[in-house]
Amino acid sequence: MEYFDLSPYDYLGFPLPMRAVGWLGRRYGVQGAGGAPMTGAELERLRAASRRLGSVTLGWHDCDFCGASEGNGEYRYYLPGGEIYAAPMMILHYVEEHGYRPPVELRDGLRAAGQPRWDWRAERLCAVLLDQSEDPDFRCQAAVDLANWNDPRALDALRRAAHDEDLVDVAGDEIGRSLAAFVDRGLARDLLAEDLHVMVRYGIDDASSRWRPRASHLAADRLRSV
Ligand SMILES: [Zn+2]
Repeated sequence: MEYFDLSPYDYLGFPLPMRAVGWLGRRYGVQGAGGAPMTGAELERLRAASRRLGSVTLGWHDCDFCGASEGNGEYRYYLPGGEIYAAPMMILHYVEEHGYRPPVELRDGLRAAGQPRWDWRAERLCAVLLDQSEDPDFRCQAAVDLANWNDPRALDALRRAAHDEDLVDVAGDEIGRSLAAFVDRGLARDLLAEDLHVMVRYGIDDASSRWRPRASHLAADRLRSV
């Protein structure tokens, strides 16, 4: 799948409007490669924002320029101004190996990003997550993306979703990964004692095991600074 940067994203259905970035291919080549390369700080911000993949059912995506093959899924960037950008997992490969330069809207947007404030996007994701008549895949993506908001309303919706028997069968692991983000932020420590579906528990454990090295690294830094 190839998109001209910033065109409306319509690859997979999604409950919110998004714009495409980094969906490179032979037709448009490496977009943005003519300008100055990304700065180190811009690349770091992009890396930091590219942690959690959604829609991992997208399938494998091969690089049209060198044939490299890399995981699947997409990153979604929720910017403070209300825009959402969707990029393939390959975006970092394009930047690092082929001189791809994402559009200034994303580069500048990530500079201003932080925890997004509660807004219509979060409201919509909560509504989708808790609506049993919604498309199960939409509900799963809502579970993934609600972790972007460090807000008790997102936590409450995810906790309710964790007890929705039909939903946990298809999205329990993603609900668990999102809940783990709140445990990590200290907002949901009591959650670990709750009776949770095995898939939710798996997601929590999976996310926590990825964080542990980072946490011990931070602890070591603290010790060194004493
Ligand atoms: Zn490549």
